[in-house]
Amino acid sequence: MATTKGPTIGGVEDIMDPMADAMTAIKAILADAKEKDRKQGTVVCPKCKGELGYSISSYNGHIHGRCNTTRGCLGHG
Ligand SMILES: [Zn+2]
Repeated sequence: MATTKGPTIGGVEDIMDPMADAMTAIKAILADAKEKDRKQGTVVCPKCKGELGYSISSYNGHIHGRCNTTRGCLGHG
């Protein structure tokens, strides 16, 4: 993304945000897990900047993430 984003348009951001937050969370989780060589831990929640707990299944690699800080945040759907 080389271009600078102008003022955000309401509605579009609202639709995009949940996906973007989930993607950001997954990337952060994978980076943390790799760096610290562990299958569970916490990263910064991209949505509320709180604490997002995660665990990665050792047999199918599925990522489970849940925000520990804010009720109704990521992983509470
Ligand atoms: Zn959160």
